[in-house]
Amino acid sequence: MPEESGKAPLLELSDVTRRYGLREGFFAGRRREVVAVAGVDLAVGVGETVGLVGESGCGKSTLARLAVALEPPSSGTVRLDGRDPWSGEAGVRQGLPRLVQMVFQDPFASLNPRLPVGWTVAEGLRAVGQGSARARRERVLELLSLVGLEPEHARRFPHQFSGGQRQRIAVARALALSPRLIVCDEPVSALDVSVQAQVINLLADLRQRLGLAYLFISHDLAVVGHVSDRTAVMYLGRIVETAPTRALYDGPVHPYTRALLAAAPAVDPRRRQPAVLAGEAPNPAAPPPGCPFHPRCDRAVAACREAVPPLAEVAPGHFARCARPS
Ligand code: ADP
Ligand code: MG
Repeated sequence: MPEESGKAPLLELSDVTRRYGLREGFFAGRRREVVAVAGVDLAVGVGETVGLVGESGCGKSTLARLAVALEPPSSGTVRLDGRDPWSGEAGVRQGLPRLVQMVFQDPFASLNPRLPVGWTVAEGLRAVGQGSARARRERVLELLSLVGLEPEHARRFPHQFSGGQRQRIAVARALALSPRLIVCDEPVSALDVSVQAQVINLLADLRQRLGLAYLFISHDLAVVGHVSDRTAVMYLGRIVETAPTRALYDGPVHPYTRALLAAAPAVDPRRRQPAVLAGEAPNPAAPPPGCPFHPRCDRAVAACREAVPPLAEVAPGHFARCARPS
């Protein structure tokens, strides 16, 4: 529905599921599947930052690839600026680079080691045939300055930079076509703690200056809480709790969120609780029946083994998928 464009959220996932087939055993006789993302509803509005947090393997990167239309959902709908990139509607996929870009965890792996960074930053501009070579050079200098780098950096190669500077280069490349949404998948997880804050501050500053929206993904609650207006907690492919960030951090109701917060080093030591997140995350190819968190949950009752609870509103704008929210 193109007439909705502009009013719709920049990103809207409706009941999105992504399955992967797995070949099991040497002769691959049996086939099993992993449900990496299961029935996710998530929206990111214009200028908004939504955080997504959860342990390794819970489906965050899969959700990121779905959000930027690198791969299609198995079921459900992805809409970017009100349009479904998988509908076949003319022009929608071609318009995506100007709407949404991605920043990955490891800037070294995502930058070509053999190309001067100026060339890499201009990659998107060349791909859409935008501007003369001279105009592109000027845009590269502007982008480098926007991310706090110097004009002479354009001629250097990725190995000549620190990790934090390389992530700045990846951000400059993502900004080249002035997208409105950036999906950041663990953007600071590979960086030293001291450098993490600098890159987070850069992203926050760019948001102010450019009116950007972010889907900000991390396994680190402290990082997500620092940058997000709203936070969603994911467990084994599902969103188990979502709320305005302050409400979620001040009053988590899902036992998993509470456990994650207790396990994270609290800023205020008086609020530290003993970690209750015992045991490994379950195997996504063989999830436990009912609520997938019940084997690790100290509040679980018989009903929790039977059915996955719905995502219910526990306070205005605060949703939790738990039969016994606290
Ligand atoms: P996270 O980013 O939270 O660590 P991922 O989205 O990478 O989680 O993975 C979620 C689950 O989906 C994992 O069990 C992973 O093994 C599986 N998975 C992800 N991508 C693929 C793929 N291309 N093929 C098969 N399984 C996959
Ligand atoms: Mg990941």
